[in-house]
Amino acid sequence: MSLLKVDRIQAAYGEVQVLNAVSMRVEKDEIISLIGANGAGKTTTVKTIAGFLHPFQGTVTFADQRIDHLPPYKITEMGISHIPEGRKLFSSMTVKENLIMGSYLPEPKKLRKESMERMMGLFPILRERSGQVAGTLSGGEQQMVAISRGLMSRPKLLMLDEPSLGLAPLMVRRILDTVQQLNGQGMTILLVEQNVIQSLKFSHRAYILERGVVVLEGTGAELLANPHMQKAYLGLK
Ligand code: ATP
Repeated sequence: MSLLKVDRIQAAYGEVQVLNAVSMRVEKDEIISLIGANGAGKTTTVKTIAGFLHPFQGTVTFADQRIDHLPPYKITEMGISHIPEGRKLFSSMTVKENLIMGSYLPEPKKLRKESMERMMGLFPILRERSGQVAGTLSGGEQQMVAISRGLMSRPKLLMLDEPSLGLAPLMVRRILDTVQQLNGQGMTILLVEQNVIQSLKFSHRAYILERGVVVLEGTGAELLANPHMQKAYLGLK
């Protein structure tokens, strides 16, 4: 049984239907990329899995339980952590306070101290910055805080929505290397990413979304070699 199974979900903002039967699955220990042009429905898919939007058709199953009717906090409690596009930090709170907010649920709260140490180990700069107000950090540092806050809830599945957006090339590399490193340490990851080549290289599999429909899926290597991918997403041919 897959850790996450999305089965033909349809979702809309009011009258505007954005997802037209999206299906995908994520197995434990995998890193899966969700790829598509602007407006294809990637963020909406991730938001629907996280419970911010409820599908009007189809199902989302996580660890053998239906979650498509649950509110976001319940879904977090079950083990899905969603790191939204644009980071959405508590910008007037310090780095440390942001991390504390990530561990408010009872079980993660018990492990807070140890989780905090882990995060400072993952991103040593956060130790130096721990008393600094998050809104004053650089974009890359803010993304480190967002990832760390997401990990503080001790998730079974980490969903990252465009973690490298707006960052300088070196920082893009640093963030994507960290995502790969986390997966290497056993974290299951669903990644939305514009850096298609880079993310396909380390993804076990990926799904290509166009106008709210999955049009292609395959291993990273298969998709890198796919003619449609090369033309539409990889800037080749
Ligand atoms: P991007 O890379 O631009 O974030 P995306 O693939 O993540 O693209 P979504 O953000 O899921 O795409 O948007 C899919 C469609 O839904 C777009 O046409 C967008 O305009 C529309 N949309 C997104 N959010 C809302 C909203 N809150 N209300 C109405 N329409 C929305």
